[in-house]
Order: sequence, then C-alpha cells, then structure tokens
Amino acid sequence: MDDQLKKNYIEDLEDISCDYLVVGSGAGGSVACSELIKKNKDVILVEEGSHYKIDHFKGSIADSFSKVWRNSGVTPILGNPSFGYGEGMCLGGGTYINGGLIYRTADTVLQDWEQRLKSKIYSKENLKPIFEKIEKNLNVTVEKNEIDKNKDSQILFDISKKNNIKCVNVRRAIKNCKRNNKCTTGCVSGAKQSTLQNYIYPAAAKGLRILTNTRAEKILLKNNKPFKLKVKKDQKYFKIKFNNIILACGPIQTPLLIKKSFNNTSLKSRMHVHHNLRLNVVFNKPLNSEIGTIFTSQIQEYINDGVLFSASNFDKSYLFSGLNNLNSNQYEFLKENINFLATYLFQIKATNEVKIFNFNNIPVLHYNLSESDFIKIKKYLLLFSKMMFEIGAKKIYLPFSNNCEATNVDEVKKSLDFNKIKNLDMVSVHGMSSARMSLDNTPNSFFNIEGRSFEYENLYCVDASILPTSTIESPQGSIMALSHSITERNF
Ligand SMILES: Cc1cc2nc3c(=O)[nH]c(=O)nc-3n(C[C@H](O)[C@H](O)[C@H](O)COP(=O)(O)OP(=O)(O)OC[C@H]3O[C@@H](n4cnc5c(N)ncnc54)[C@H](O)[C@@H]3O)c2cc1C
Repeated sequence: MDDQLKKNYIEDLEDISCDYLVVGSGAGGSVACSELIKKNKDVILVEEGSHYKIDHFKGSIADSFSKVWRNSGVTPILGNPSFGYGEGMCLGGGTYINGGLIYRTADTVLQDWEQRLKSKIYSKENLKPIFEKIEKNLNVTVEKNEIDKNKDSQILFDISKKNNIKCVNVRRAIKNCKRNNKCTTGCVSGAKQSTLQNYIYPAAAKGLRILTNTRAEKILLKNNKPFKLKVKKDQKYFKIKFNNIILACGPIQTPLLIKKSFNNTSLKSRMHVHHNLRLNVVFNKPLNSEIGTIFTSQIQEYINDGVLFSASNFDKSYLFSGLNNLNSNQYEFLKENINFLATYLFQIKATNEVKIFNFNNIPVLHYNLSESDFIKIKKYLLLFSKMMFEIGAKKIYLPFSNNCEATNVDEVKKSLDFNKIKNLDMVSVHGMSSARMSLDNTPNSFFNIEGRSFEYENLYCVDASILPTSTIESPQGSIMALSHSITERNF
C-alpha cells in the first residue's frame, strides 16, 4: 500500500520520547494531536489499528469489518438483554466507520453539565466558536431531499406531515456524497469527512510522529508520576518516555488502560449508552433504499424523551444478518420484495449504565435494561409502527430475536405483550462517560473539569470517556468540542 504517512512513522522504537503522548486517534485524539501540533509541540500519536485511506475498502463490508472494526465488528455486552457494541480500530477511530452526523450538544445537556461542574467552561456560549470551527474543518452540511434517492428518509417527512411532528434534515460531515450507502466501510467515494483527513493528515504534514499497529498496555509511574508508556508492537514490548500523556482510546479502552495501570479500584467505570433498535419495513411501493446514504432526515419530535427515529444504511447483508430466525418462505418473500424494503433505526438514550470490569486485561461488560426503558421502547415501537402502517407499510419486522413480523397494529401489540426484555435485538455504537469528568473525585469519575486526572497532573483524557453524562444525539461533535476546549486551554 502506498502510505502517504510513511515519513511520519517512527521506525526505531528503542529509546523514544516526546513532550506530549496522545494515545488513540479517534474523535478526541485526532483533535488533540492537531491542536498540539498547531502550537508547535513535540507530539507522538500511538494507535492500535492501521492506516487506511478513507476509500480503501471500496464498500467491502467483510474486509472493513475485519480490518477497521474492533473485534471484527462486535464487542459483546452481557446481561438482560445481551447486545453488541461497535467501535472503530484504525487511524481516525470511530470517525472512519461512522455515519458522519455532527451535532452540537443539546442545550438541556449543556445546562445539566454547567450545574454538575459548577462551571461555564462548556456553556453554549463558550462552545459556540469551537463548534463553528469543527463544522468548518469537517465541512458539515445540512442534508437535502432528493426525488430519486433516499426515499426511505423521505418517508419520515411524509409521516411528519401526516402527524404534525418534527422532522429535520440532518447535518453531516460530507463533501459531494455520492450516495453509495456504505458509510460503515469508510466511504467508497471519499466524501465522508472523518478526522483522519481533516485533523490527522494536516497534523502529519506539520510533523506529527505516528506509531500505528501499536497498543498501549500500561502507564508506568516514577515517584508516583506517569513517565513512560509500555506499548506492544509486532509481539514486542517497548517503552515511550513522555512529559504529558493524553488518553483517547475510546469509552471502553480508556477505562481499561486506567485500571490496568493504576489497579481495578482506581475507577468504578460506568458507561452511558444509546441503544439502536432496527425495524425492517416492507412498503406498498418500491423505495430502492440501497440508492441513498445512511439517512438524510430524522424525526426529533420525541428528543426530550431521549428518542430519535431515522432510516439506516440499507444493505442486503446487514438486513439478512439481523433476520436470522426466518424460515425459507420468509427469506424468499424478502428477496422478492427487496426493493420495497427499508431499515429504520429507533435510537434511545438508556437510563442504566454498562459496567466495565478488567478481567485479566480484557474488558468484561455487563448491562441490564431498566424496566422503565423497556416500557418506553414498547410505547415507541407501537407508535412508530402505527405511523408506518398509516403511510403504506405492509409488514414490519420488529427488533426482537424471534424476528416477529406484524402486518397491522394489533399484531404489533401482540408481539409487544408477548416479548420480554431478553428477546430485544439491539446494538450500540455510542458509549460515553465511562471515566467522566466531575467537580469532585468520585468512584465513577477520574478526571477534573479540565480533563486532567485528579491523581496525576500530567495525565489527561479527551475522548468519549470524559463526557460528564450522555448526550441525546450522536456524540462525535460533543467529544471533539471538549477535546478542542481542553487542549486549547491547557497546553
Ligand atoms: C458504526 C458507527 C456509526 C456511528 N455514527 C456516528 C455518527 O454518525 N455521528 C456521531 O456523532 N457518532 C457516531 N458514532 C459514534 C462515534 O464515532 C464515537 O462516539 C466516537 O468516534 C468516539 O470517539 P473517541 O475519541 O472516544 O474514540 P474512538 O473514535 O473510538 O477512537 C479511539 C481510538 O483509540 C484506539 N485505541 C483504543 N485502545 C488503544 C490502545 N490501548 N492503544 C492504542 N490505541 C488504542 C482505537 O483503535 C481507536 O482508533 C458512530 C459509531 C459507529 C461505530
């Protein structure tokens, strides 16, 4: 592979040192690298995954899952129900494989943070210029409606008109999106603006030193001060000396590294999540959902209840991998009706938290959905199904492991009465607050309001782990904003 970053790679790992060591290159880490390099600091970036250009996978789901997703796509979270968590593992982290939706943090969330942190540093006014900068850097654009594409998203506007509810065009980091519908493989046309192109490449051009395929294993202390990072590359261990270390390994790996470095009792890690539940819907007219992008519109009427509703990347392999309990007649029906199908995502902000344990250096994740969230999920499944049937849905496959199908509202009600929490079929790709920042040092927090460790003054964090609480919308914008704010102010 012709690698444009070749000149930035550190060849000899013996005896290396830097002023600032950034660990992890996703939403948070790439911002920190870019800001530090702009300030002419001496920075090394350590990333466990490899570097691939954004259009490298040409839409191949199998290839991209095995190379740029951690655990080839799914990290299991055990409990009631068990579900899969998805995260990126490559230069650019989650921003390489995500949908590119960029939201500013909701006012209600920022007001809550202000009260919790007793500080205005992350107030709407203070973050405004930072969000403007992020939106410019990532070319954030308001999506538009098209006549011949994204018909699955257009359906949401039909629903909104009929029911007088709020539906908006979403804001995405894209340049000339060609509607290839393969956002999770990078981007076939290179249109998606991940932090790889817009933060890491510019920082590399100004001298950022990079170590890919290198996993941070443990932060080492000298006189109770972090001073070296033990890393593993090509089955060998090395140590990197630093003056300051900035963690950005994402919401599961950052708490794991903290626990591995400073013992399991140093942090009681609890991760906030959003759940995604899929509804596969067969309509009475062709939609050709494959012709489009992840989604262009979103129902936001129920946002204060933590609930959002949108279409999803439509792909036959995704569709059938999520419907693995169908009999052969049902498969045949779907294959024949593939052009009439659309997949919708119902996203809900969960009340309960995922517990993260370190078991022999492997993260063990445990979760139980709350009874109140289950009641809410059933309420909105019924509501969305009803609205779908009213505008022409013929059949809906509900998000339960038995792939319940319903052809009318009564059948949906029956399925909802019958199914238990353990039958829910859901995933998550949004984890937050697992080593949260807080005013006081509590068991669930590790960093102060500047993102600096309560314990060690040269240890910082700038990824999803430090968010004081969960966001309501997709979190990349909020993570980047906090990373900008912390690095601009502190270094
Ligand atoms: C399929 C999918 C779709 C999504 N869609 C959206 C969206 O449209 N909008 C949005 O706002 N959010 C979206 N998200 C979520 C968003 O991408 C994440 O919230 C965000 O990337 C998290 O940023 P982060 O910096 O905390 O961690 P990450 O972006 O996950 O980056 C962490 C990096 O650290 C590296 N790393 C981890 N451990 C180590 C270690 N020990 N040593 C060295 N390196 C390490 C990882 O390999 C990774 O590259 C999506 C996520 C997924 C998976």
